[in-house]
Amino acid sequence: MFGLMQDRPLMIASILGHAARHHRDAGIVTNTVEGGLHRCTYAEAESRAKRLARALEARGVQRGERIGTLAWNTWRHLEIYYGVSGMGAVCHTINPRLFPDQIVYIVGHAADTHLFVDLTFVPLVEAMADHLPKSVRTIVVMTDHAHMPAAMTVPAGVEVACYEDLLAEADADYTWPEFDENTASSLCYTSGTTGAPKGVLYSHRSTVLHALGVNAPDVLGLRSVDRVMPVVPMFHVNAWGTPYAAPAAGATLVMPGPHMDGASLQKVMEGEGVTAALGVPTVWLGLLDHLRKSGTRIDGCQRLIIGGSACPRLLFEAFDREYGVRVDHAWGMTEMSPLGTYNTLKPKHDGLDGEDLMQLRLTQGRSIFGVDMKIVDGAGTELPWDGKAFGNLMVKGPWVCRAYFGREDEVAQTHDADGWFRTGDVATIDPDGFMRITDRTKDVVKSGGEWISSIELENIAVGHPDVAEAAVIAARHPKWDERPLLIVVPRDGREIDPSTLLGWFEGKVAKWWIPDAVLVVDQLPHTATGKLQKTTLRDRYADHLLT
Ligand code: ADP
Repeated sequence: MFGLMQDRPLMIASILGHAARHHRDAGIVTNTVEGGLHRCTYAEAESRAKRLARALEARGVQRGERIGTLAWNTWRHLEIYYGVSGMGAVCHTINPRLFPDQIVYIVGHAADTHLFVDLTFVPLVEAMADHLPKSVRTIVVMTDHAHMPAAMTVPAGVEVACYEDLLAEADADYTWPEFDENTASSLCYTSGTTGAPKGVLYSHRSTVLHALGVNAPDVLGLRSVDRVMPVVPMFHVNAWGTPYAAPAAGATLVMPGPHMDGASLQKVMEGEGVTAALGVPTVWLGLLDHLRKSGTRIDGCQRLIIGGSACPRLLFEAFDREYGVRVDHAWGMTEMSPLGTYNTLKPKHDGLDGEDLMQLRLTQGRSIFGVDMKIVDGAGTELPWDGKAFGNLMVKGPWVCRAYFGREDEVAQTHDADGWFRTGDVATIDPDGFMRITDRTKDVVKSGGEWISSIELENIAVGHPDVAEAAVIAARHPKWDERPLLIVVPRDGREIDPSTLLGWFEGKVAKWWIPDAVLVVDQLPHTATGKLQKTTLRDRYADHLLT
């Protein structure tokens, strides 16, 4: 017997529709690309998103067609999110920090027909003009007529249009269509630390469920009184879902545009009364540095949500103690829309303080409703939740990817037989469900069949006063198969003595975890998203212990 409730599909456009109708005072503030602040209400944003949908339909854009964006966090980008997905096409956000040949690859793989481009990225597109995939028919520059470039180098036959002109020509009288909630809505490629970038294709259903899931009180818990600033870019996993979660809650979005340095962030956060902001550790290290040097504050801000890579202890301590801002640690990935865990305490942790509290807060947190997780050993056997055993982390849920776009026949490599997705992270889970990432599967050091966490060793190394940055890789070893090799960059003006540094590990980890050797280098390689590029280090130094 079926229930007798209305069977309404979960549609992305309904989120903006809700905000426009029920939160008329809330909206979007943007620190614009052109300069100055721009303000609009959700009602205005919805009306313009409808114009955009109409304009695209008039140009023959079909449902399912991929529309690319190379753009910062702005109100126009938000209109594109809703206009494109709302009409049934797919909003493909492209990370402009990828290498140009990767961008060309993913535009071609996605077969984007339109590219919406911020003024900042016009030179990038021009530089790619000779290699631009044939699928691209139109480039829309996301600005008004006055700011349009006088000329733009594009391949013959590709049209260049002005965003505001496109909207001005279209009618706002448009009704969002309703269709199957499993229809594709947006597309985001992983940065491709291993091989070619892989596309994650979100649906209306997964996106709406994720927005509802992250708005739970123990997670992001956004409210209409909030003014939320996603510093995490809209080209990186949909800015962690905030462009959907904020309007769903009636919270105002404060968009940093391209201005993500410490001084610009502080100014906008204070000026606009930002209550919560989200981003990767590097951004907050930049802000902290600015606050300390300038003596300025971010008094209205209640919390920073930090994820994307492990949140350093320094950020918890400094923001808590010096600025009264709580730091929430979150974990997720492109394949998970992205949120999987969030660190909020349970009643039993009342009264917990000092080092015990810090150790708990440094974990990546516990599963949010909608994502289940487990850890397994190399044979796929589930490991205990004792906070000690570490194994491959697997996840399952309605906003976890089922296959990569165009690679639907490769699921045996990415998922187990029961549909659990292999995250590629190695983790422990404690009896209360708090998960702690100890490594990436491909980075863990397998010494004589036992696993050593490269991240744990790196954390200890960067705790040394002379070390600016550290990487631990698995180096080949004749007896143990692999042994940890520590590669470090010294702090400015400091020198590192390898044997003293190895002594630093004594008593901090089991003896057999201590790296076999230390290499001192001037710099370490990073990916386009700022993560350590260990593949390059392995290519270079994997045989170091054999020589
Ligand atoms: P990329 O495109 O670089 O893969 P993702 O955001 O999808 O970008 O990266 C996901 C990975 O980032 C995770 O699998 C994990 O290894 C790492 N990560 C994300 N959040 C955290 C965190 N809070 N702590 C440690 N690692 C994290």
